[in-house]
Amino acid sequence: MTIKTNGAGDAQIVALPAPKKSIGDSALGTAYSQFDRAAQILELDTGLADSLRSCQRELTVNFPVKMRDGSIRRFTGYRLHHNSARGPTKGGIRYSPHVTLDEVRALSMWMTWKCAVVNIPYGGAKGGVICDPKQLNIHELEGITRRYTTEISILLSPDGDIPAPDMGTNAQTMAWIMDTYSMHKGHAVPAIVTGKPINIGGSAGRLEATGRGVMFTVREAFRAMGWNFEGARVAVQGFGNVGSITATTAHEMGCKVVAVSDVEGGLYNSRGINMPRLTQWNKEHNTIKGFDGADAISNSELLAVKCDVLAPAAMENQITSQTAASVRARMVAEGANGPTTPEGDAILSDKGVVVIPDILCNAGGVVVSYFEWVQSLQQLFWEEDDINSRLEKIMIRSYHDVKAKAESLKLDMRTAAQVLGIGRVADATMTRGLYP
Ligand code: NAD
Repeated sequence: MTIKTNGAGDAQIVALPAPKKSIGDSALGTAYSQFDRAAQILELDTGLADSLRSCQRELTVNFPVKMRDGSIRRFTGYRLHHNSARGPTKGGIRYSPHVTLDEVRALSMWMTWKCAVVNIPYGGAKGGVICDPKQLNIHELEGITRRYTTEISILLSPDGDIPAPDMGTNAQTMAWIMDTYSMHKGHAVPAIVTGKPINIGGSAGRLEATGRGVMFTVREAFRAMGWNFEGARVAVQGFGNVGSITATTAHEMGCKVVAVSDVEGGLYNSRGINMPRLTQWNKEHNTIKGFDGADAISNSELLAVKCDVLAPAAMENQITSQTAASVRARMVAEGANGPTTPEGDAILSDKGVVVIPDILCNAGGVVVSYFEWVQSLQQLFWEEDDINSRLEKIMIRSYHDVKAKAESLKLDMRTAAQVLGIGRVADATMTRGLYP
């Protein structure tokens, strides 16, 4: 069974190869397993595949920070460029005690394929600092961010590598990065980051973009499958940037949000959770725990809630060989990066669950980051309506691009998205030619 790519990255049919075993349930194992399957379908040259599978540049930095009690603590951070064949590299910065070099490798790789799937002119990058932002005060966070930015600045530039927020970082973190970089340059460089506050050149709609994009894609998938979207029952894991906006947007679009969770546990209400009240509660308490408009459930119970759409929007490796069998959703919409392992995927597929894969489903964030970057470079700002309608158009187009690939090659949606993204990057690489 063979497949050939043509110059446009399109491939002709073949059948599904068996997925290679992942390296346990690690994010990198998942990313490699997905890549190997797509590379086999694309019949990539083995040397080219080996090159696309690897990160182009990897920087590890160790740096001291003065803590508020006067002590000095060493932190470790990373910034990786996975691939820049299609343009400057783009990817978030994560602050978490669980950050590892391998995790950042996986996340940077997914960024490359994601940007290619939605066809924006970026390569993939990612960064992270091993720290627990919940245990640090604002001065310590600022100190870590400014020193980390300085350490990785040899990799950053507005036309080379542009960071954005990810887990544990936010618009304030981006403001510190922009300020630090700008201080070294001697003038403001707003295009050095996206996801920054609007008063220093951020974009309307960026904060909400990932969650909105998730729901634009889900709504289009319902339309395409002839399912009834109005009143669809939605469960969301994670209540940070992506999870809270996914749940709020679902509510605003007429769905019923029956369950949500954060790191401290979940909530369930079969009649639908009052989202404006929950949002207010979360703002006041910094957790959804204790909200009186729903019953408390555990995070594993959340994954097993009977619903139409389950949106994992927290972290990697949630739907696995251990948990996938309990999923009772008709559709899994991946707000998080890498929430499903290959073993989890196989179980969902056997159960007939439709998966909208991460590199398509959560691409709204990088799409509006692209809009923000363009606005920052031009110093010309767009209205939020304009941004949302452009985002919606790209998410719908990308959904249909992936679906068409899935149908023409008889692939599941994840493999189709990977084949589409990797095929485009492979084509760009060969069109540019191998230097020297
Ligand atoms: P965030 O830090 O704003 O929120 C993370 C949320 O997950 C928090 O509510 C936290 O309590 C919860 N959480 C952590 N561990 C959990 C667990 N074990 N069970 C349940 N909930 C848990 O992060 P975010 O920016 O919303 O990112 C979430 C995911 O979405 C990550 O995988 C990230 O890479 C991905 N993503 C983010 C963006 C973006 O624009 N922020 C874009 C694309 C993808």
